[in-house]
Amino acid sequence: MSLSSSTPKFRVAICGAGIGGLVLAITIGKFAGHSIHIDLYEAHEAITTAGAGVGISPRTLEVIKELGIYEEYSRVANKPSSSSLGPTLRRSNAPQGGVEWFRQKLTNAPSHIHRQHLVEILEQFLPSSCTLHFKKRLTRYDEQPSGSLILHFADDGTATTDLLIGADGIRSSARKTLFETLNRDVVDPTKIGHYIDPSWTGTLVYRAIIPAKKVSEIDPNNIALKDFTVFCGMGKNIITYPVAQGTQINVAAFVRDDQKAGTPFEGHWVTDVSCKELQELYQDFEPDVRNLLKCSETTSRWALHVVNELPLSANGRVALIGDACHAMTPYFGAGAGQAMEDAFVLGRLLAHPLTTLDNVPAALKAYQDVRLPFVQFLARESQRAGHMVDIEPPSTDEDNAHVQANLDTQKEKVLAQFDWASKGGAVAEWLEAERKFQESIGLTDGQYENGCIVDVVRTLSALNV
Ligand code: FAD
Repeated sequence: MSLSSSTPKFRVAICGAGIGGLVLAITIGKFAGHSIHIDLYEAHEAITTAGAGVGISPRTLEVIKELGIYEEYSRVANKPSSSSLGPTLRRSNAPQGGVEWFRQKLTNAPSHIHRQHLVEILEQFLPSSCTLHFKKRLTRYDEQPSGSLILHFADDGTATTDLLIGADGIRSSARKTLFETLNRDVVDPTKIGHYIDPSWTGTLVYRAIIPAKKVSEIDPNNIALKDFTVFCGMGKNIITYPVAQGTQINVAAFVRDDQKAGTPFEGHWVTDVSCKELQELYQDFEPDVRNLLKCSETTSRWALHVVNELPLSANGRVALIGDACHAMTPYFGAGAGQAMEDAFVLGRLLAHPLTTLDNVPAALKAYQDVRLPFVQFLARESQRAGHMVDIEPPSTDEDNAHVQANLDTQKEKVLAQFDWASKGGAVAEWLEAERKFQESIGLTDGQYENGCIVDVVRTLSALNV
């Protein structure tokens, strides 16, 4: 076997051309060239995305820079405004007028981008080693005795691949087959349904993109026009930030009912609803919110589901990334970023010169061991963060010292929640995963460095060459 070869060393099928699947294809293409053939299967007839904003943390920005797409990204992304490097949180459940609770100063504030713009940039950067297949909805896969996988699609077609990455979102078919076919020693059979089926959080999220011009015509000083803002109430809050160079305002309005968490949600998870439905829900909020929502033109309502904490994200030659593996509540605005970080770490491992078809399971395990604990920690913290912005309405009573003290404590807790964004990063995680991978195939630090084999004999022997 030679370490470099003109024929692809293996074929990878990525199911799902969302943000995670696209970044995975780009990463593999950038770092492996044509040594890995990629088939990217997408259920829809085009690369589409439900249009709203995404926040990109500095950790995730590392991925965008490493992939060489930062120039295109920064042309359309909204940087954090200089007056406020993080969101302003307001006590907004006061129809007469809200008050600022506190302004979060972050050294690690996210930039924001319209989701459609991000997807368009990613599509441009797909490598020539990637073949896109549209209208290909994976339904299940079978493992062959040789180790290769047969993919089955909703149109009755099949395809063969050497490894499969499920990037197929919260209702992942790859996750379903993975857990249905796992050895019963690896996973408790009574919990399989719990791993396959997402859970409703009891929360509805109303999403809208509102033209900034329309808002400024009726309320030129509306807070949402300028800054990344969280309008807080009790069980209800709205996150807004400008996108598309300030010409639009992204709105995510949450309505939470904890009693309903874990109960089945009846009906479609995503539905277009009348703007009036959203406006009425926030009638008890401050005028800036009511004026903002008055300008909404279309609104969709999302029943917020999450993937329950999984015991693994890789097995044999199959792995899950992004929402397929850890769809989380969006209170940190981190889901898309984490899908990108998964994709980057996994893509670099697959593209690694020492990765062969034989040791692919070790590469997938290194990905799992580095990424899964972090994303699951983030999912738990994000869930907690959703409750932390619950806030009593402002009051004019004089006996408010204790309320203020509570708010100060609550503020410190909210601030501490965002520590994750400045810890580690996608590149550090990739290096950690590389170290784990090398260790698992019998190489120690120093035998393979910076793309060079330091100890040829031991390296070839570790690779069974
Ligand atoms: P998806 O975006 O779901 O993509 C999956 C792709 O797979 C789709 O193209 C789909 O058509 C395709 N597909 C599905 N099934 C199949 C199949 N069987 N076969 C083939 N293809 C298939 N994240 C952030 O980072 N920042 C934010 O500000 C933010 N805000 C959010 C607000 C709300 C209200 C919600 C609900 C989520 C938010 N998120 C945010 C989370 C973010 O949207 C997701 O985490 C992210 O889109 C996950 O990307 P993905 O590629 O893993 O999955």
